Amino acid sequence: MEAEEMKLAQVIVDVPAMQTDQPFSYLIPPQLAVEVGMRVEVGFGPRHVQGFVIGFETAPEPLPDNLKPLIRVLDLAPVLNQELLALADYMKATTFAFKVTCLQTMLPSVMKANYQKSFYLLKEVDTVQANYFAGGSSLDWEDAEAQGWLKELAALREQGIVELRYEVHTKNKVKTERYIKRTFSPAKLAELKAGLRKNSYKQEQLLDYLAALAEEKLVAVKEMKAEDFSLANLNQAEAKGWLTFVAVEKYRDPYAEREIQQTAALELNPEQQAAYEAISQKNIAGEHQVFLLEGVTGSGKTEVYLQVIQDVLAKGQTAMMLVPEISLTPQMAIRFKARFGSEVAVLHSGLSQGEKYDEWRKLERGEAHVVVGARSAIFAPLENLGVIIIDEEHETSYKQEESPRYHARDLAIWRGKYHHCPVVLGSATPSLESRARGQKGVYQLLHLTERANSQAKLPTVEIVDMREEMQRRLNSSFSESLEEKLRNRLAKGEQSVLLLNRRGYSSFVMCRDCGFVLPCPNCDISLTLHMDTKTMRCHYCGHEEGIPHRCPNCGKDKIRYFGTGTEKVQEELEQLIPEARVLRMDVDTTRRKGAHEKILTAFGEKEADILLGTQMIAKGLDFPNVTLVGVLNADTALNLPDFRSSERTFQLLTQVSGRAGRGEKAGEVVIQTFNPEHYTIKLAQHHDYENFYHQEMRIRHQTDYPPYYYTVKVTVSHQEEMKAAQKAFQLAEQLRQQLSPQSILLGPTPGAILRIKNRYYYQLIIKYKHEPNLQGTLEEILQVSQKDQRQGLLIAIDNEP
Ligand code: ADP
Ligand code: ZN
Repeated sequence: MEAEEMKLAQVIVDVPAMQTDQPFSYLIPPQLAVEVGMRVEVGFGPRHVQGFVIGFETAPEPLPDNLKPLIRVLDLAPVLNQELLALADYMKATTFAFKVTCLQTMLPSVMKANYQKSFYLLKEVDTVQANYFAGGSSLDWEDAEAQGWLKELAALREQGIVELRYEVHTKNKVKTERYIKRTFSPAKLAELKAGLRKNSYKQEQLLDYLAALAEEKLVAVKEMKAEDFSLANLNQAEAKGWLTFVAVEKYRDPYAEREIQQTAALELNPEQQAAYEAISQKNIAGEHQVFLLEGVTGSGKTEVYLQVIQDVLAKGQTAMMLVPEISLTPQMAIRFKARFGSEVAVLHSGLSQGEKYDEWRKLERGEAHVVVGARSAIFAPLENLGVIIIDEEHETSYKQEESPRYHARDLAIWRGKYHHCPVVLGSATPSLESRARGQKGVYQLLHLTERANSQAKLPTVEIVDMREEMQRRLNSSFSESLEEKLRNRLAKGEQSVLLLNRRGYSSFVMCRDCGFVLPCPNCDISLTLHMDTKTMRCHYCGHEEGIPHRCPNCGKDKIRYFGTGTEKVQEELEQLIPEARVLRMDVDTTRRKGAHEKILTAFGEKEADILLGTQMIAKGLDFPNVTLVGVLNADTALNLPDFRSSERTFQLLTQVSGRAGRGEKAGEVVIQTFNPEHYTIKLAQHHDYENFYHQEMRIRHQTDYPPYYYTVKVTVSHQEEMKAAQKAFQLAEQLRQQLSPQSILLGPTPGAILRIKNRYYYQLIIKYKHEPNLQGTLEEILQVSQKDQRQGLLIAIDNEP
């Protein structure tokens, strides 16, 4: 090989243990066509691993003799375009994750590992390759490779004739539906009929039916059966050469079962109109701008989004709509499908891998132009974006808790800049960070101050002091007032929503005699009692064990349950108001795929009177018959050791209150609390976000927390406590020397839970306003600690935790 221009492929390999972001160089065998953004298989040491081609370089001379060739190319066309590759660089720089992790995060998980690949015929053509498909619709990648067809297939793909598909094992195999197509000329009808034996009535009928079909028309076999032609009839006809069977690929459609009524745009009220115009104008001008759409619950934010998107689609552009969690997605997805039909693809973790891949492909092929999805939908392969919307922008689920620890809001803004399009952050209770940017004019503030449906008013909120209540009604989770109101709704045939942010039966069991609390053997946390499985379970590591009847410590039978969870409240409700039909929605009742939606649909169809659940019921639900919301213990989140606990509580109370009175009937909210004087509770009572914002900002200012400071959390963990602590102190020392005097370093302190899954956690918090070298310093720390990391030490850096 002496060509001057010989190129090498630069490949980012998937070898986590290497902990490196350096690309490795590989020779490109002449028979392989490879482009930037494609996945390849390469040799790495003794192993074959997957990698991404991120660029090319001119080969040095002489060629180093340890260079290896690419083994195979895994794609026909790049799976990541220039934009997404650049986004991966940005993600890496802001999250300190490995580049390969960033790249993989952007693709549907079927494409990561364990997949089979096949080519699917999309159109019939008269080529050798296409003939290979005859009788079926797919061709294995291995076969194609063996035949030496990869380059030809790449060309056919370019023409839209074949497509490459990735599938996980056999479970998610492509779905096909059988159709028939006529293969005789209708001019021959009489001739064919004449050739039939006497009394072949059915066959004559079939011939007539087929002859009447339009040229090339496909009719589903299912439909033929409805026309009273059996499979035997069709098989006979095929044998006679009258028709042929065609397998047509079907997308797995999670919404296929559902009838969705088309909706039309509503006439916007003046506030909605102003918001819509401000956003649309930026889209028309092709300018990037971040908007903060602050609108009370039920103020018609979604209608504004829908109308902006309608314009974007009319311009031939695409749109992205992010929603926080899967429990919210069914209703939102249906509202979007009702307006835009098959233009909408839906992406969230509740779909099977196959369904997710199919939805992703619709976007990639340009068959759908709108994506509605949870966090990872931010990576949807949309080109020519006209608007990006993040609904409920304050939600924590937009931040990924594991590497790469990205925030979808930041990536949305990056993509918005790239596409010169508006980004809309919507919320009734914006995060303090976003609101502060709105205040400064970095984001443009838009307000919706009233409920859009003119009959619907914001609900009245009653605060119940549980300290007093407890003296009268010991051992009840329900205050007198809440109980009475629940009974009243039941009598009127109206529905109620109850929030308790704690799942399980009770959060710990304790010996009344010696005070022993049953701990998890792997984590420093108590075990939660679950009656449905009759076990004690750890919510951190999943450890399960039997319920103790005697105290494991002192042997007495004084074990008692403390800390009420949703299971126990359900039991209490059954005793208190036996005639009420109760649905429970929490992590435990929604494990199965589609369970969320089932519960919500049942509640929407009034199959239950009360929906009881954890915070997953607080968001986005729009049930006009709900007139009462009860918060059983508003203090759960308030007592957390987190500077955001007030903000979270205010958001949760506002969100859940917003579920009441969305229709014509007025709504009421009961908040039970042990801290009735707390400003968070009082301001939530009056739906007073504005004053909450100012009060909370004062506290953040006094305590040097965001948005006045940026924060980074560095967590060190190891199976031996001493090793974790040692490293944490060493890093603290190093950081203290390198940070500017204006910055603040907190810690090291043991993690909020010192031990999880038998690993010990220590953490440092850096608070800073301006620290241009911090990224470099942290990257260096990661580099230098590589050796420790191979010995079981983990360092996690969390930007804006
Ligand atoms: P948000 O997203 O702010 O919570 P929604 O968009 O869900 O609010 O709107 C709340 C209710 O008001 C919905 O039932 C919606 O159909 C209705 N709505 C929204 N805009 C209008 C309007 N301009 N006129 C009449 N009803 C509206
Ligand atoms: Zn545990």
